[in-house]
Amino acid sequence: MELLDFDVVVLGSGIAGLGAAIHASRSSKESLSVALVSKLHVMRSHSVAAEGGISGVLYPESNKDSKDLHAYDTIKGSDYLADQDAVEVLVEKAPEEIKFLDHIGVPWNRLDNGHISQRPFGGMSIPRTAFAADKTGFFMMRSLYDELLSLKNVEIFNEHFATSLIRDGNEVHGFVAFDMATRNVKAFRSKSLIIATGGASRVFSFTTNSYSNTGDGTAMAFRAGIPLKDMEFVQFHPTALIPSGILITEAARGEGGYLRNANGDRFMERYAKSKMELAPRDIVSRSIMTEIKEGRGMRDKESGLDYVYLDLRHLDSKKIDEKLPMIKEITIKMLNIDPSKLPIPIRPAAHFTMGGIHTDIKGHVMRSSREIMNGVWAAGECACVSVHGANRLGSNSLSQCSVWGRITGMEAAQNAKRVRRTSAKFERMAEQEEMRIIGLAEGKGSQSPYEIRDALYNVMDEHLYVYRNMKGMKLAQKRISSLRKRMKDVYVKDKGNVYNTNLRETFEIANLLDLAWVITEGAIRRHESRGAHVVAEYPKRDDKNWLKHTIAMKSIGGVRFEYVPVKMEGWQPEERKY
Ligand SMILES: Cc1cc2nc3c(=O)[nH]c(=O)nc-3n(C[C@H](O)[C@H](O)[C@H](O)COP(=O)(O)OP(=O)(O)OC[C@H]3O[C@@H](n4cnc5c(N)ncnc54)[C@H](O)[C@@H]3O)c2cc1C
Repeated sequence: MELLDFDVVVLGSGIAGLGAAIHASRSSKESLSVALVSKLHVMRSHSVAAEGGISGVLYPESNKDSKDLHAYDTIKGSDYLADQDAVEVLVEKAPEEIKFLDHIGVPWNRLDNGHISQRPFGGMSIPRTAFAADKTGFFMMRSLYDELLSLKNVEIFNEHFATSLIRDGNEVHGFVAFDMATRNVKAFRSKSLIIATGGASRVFSFTTNSYSNTGDGTAMAFRAGIPLKDMEFVQFHPTALIPSGILITEAARGEGGYLRNANGDRFMERYAKSKMELAPRDIVSRSIMTEIKEGRGMRDKESGLDYVYLDLRHLDSKKIDEKLPMIKEITIKMLNIDPSKLPIPIRPAAHFTMGGIHTDIKGHVMRSSREIMNGVWAAGECACVSVHGANRLGSNSLSQCSVWGRITGMEAAQNAKRVRRTSAKFERMAEQEEMRIIGLAEGKGSQSPYEIRDALYNVMDEHLYVYRNMKGMKLAQKRISSLRKRMKDVYVKDKGNVYNTNLRETFEIANLLDLAWVITEGAIRRHESRGAHVVAEYPKRDDKNWLKHTIAMKSIGGVRFEYVPVKMEGWQPEERKY
């Protein structure tokens, strides 16, 4: 096993990870040693798939916008579960991030006066989503990656798969990973570690997420005894293409697209009269599923999936070419549908993990509901700093990744300059993890990881989707528990050492199972309907008993739950009407 020492290690190379590495490096004037470790090549990280844009108040006067209004929209969108102090940081810092991205080369769409163009997004009162056509994530990643490559003190470890954090008491000292090219095991020892491993929507099979979004960092944190927050809140994006689940960005509705049922009606009139198709995602997803349940949907014969239509036919085809070129490319390539001529079949798909690793407002990872764990931060979709609450507004994730990428990078660098830490146990613990990796790679077992994964998909798609009920969730609980038992006897068929994706996927499936377990247990316990969590038996939001975050911690043989109050700064809960 190779032992590698760095001042700062960033695990994950999406928008949050790249931001963290850049700002750790820059804020130390390139004096600290920084490592960036990723299971994929940097430019294959999921963030390249982000389409519609990033939110931030850029021109308050000419757009009649304000940071207060952005905060209000975000908090109302979150169904009042967002921590309001964290939302204030988000709206305060997001404009600086968009300007920083401008300076490092993101080719924003612009107006004739040179201003960065901003489009409407769901649940936002004012158009405030900056965009680079419908390939915003790709352009942000490319610019951040170029910036990173210009820094002297950052070493990149592409295609290294992390399996476990090394925690000794109240400190995290790094993690163990194996090199995909050789299966050589490496222990990364850090003074400061930033976890930026992305979301976990691959817990579902019908999802907009890339295959890599298996929540590895979140599951590793959970197994290391770190609390996870609000995991029961999974966002279902209303418009995923049938049958693949590929995202059709909300920008398609932002640019004027309609939703229509089998009768051709714009059914959002019944559910959100003023915002119509641009109501927040939880509401639009439920509206689509209600239309389908009440017999006004259509069915794809091959996949058996029910759907409704996203209709762009009334938009100027020049607008589609300029602002939604990727959507046109996707629908033509996947379904031979030219969106200016035919409507697009869509339905809601798992899209975003609102919950995640419990952090404080500076991205510091917590070790209990209220105390900090030393040496470790989390940023991006894997973290729950709690700006999205029970329902994220579209385009607020790229702002969150950028804002807390910078904050955690700077915090981690400062910490690394200060501390001199050692753990006598580090090497022994890393060696134990190496033995576990070898044991799984070379061992025998009777269970196929892929059969377990497919069974998990069925459970989650059926029982933890847009509409939930207690009977279904309890069935899911039972099945997940039996799948977790089967996982203990799993086998890796491929015995090779070079790019053993079978081995990597087996670890990923184990991570998905742990997170599915936490999502389901948390969902069963939350006896109300709020944001993306809607339960038949408890159809109303219950602020008296449930205006609080779920904190899930691993305990011997189970998960232990605690609840902490939402941080309020003056925005009082009100009925959510759009
Ligand atoms: C199709 C799509 C479009 C979207 N469009 C928008 C949008 O327009 N606006 C918006 O605000 N949000 C959007 N979102 C959400 C947004 O894209 C994500 O929340 C965001 O990109 C997450 O970035 P991240 O840096 O946290 O993680 P990711 O970009 O997912 O990166 C995670 C990183 O962690 C690494 N990693 C993971 N596990 C391991 C491991 N075990 N070992 C080593 N490395 C590991 C991966 O290799 C990767 O580099 C979209 C989401 C989807 C699915």
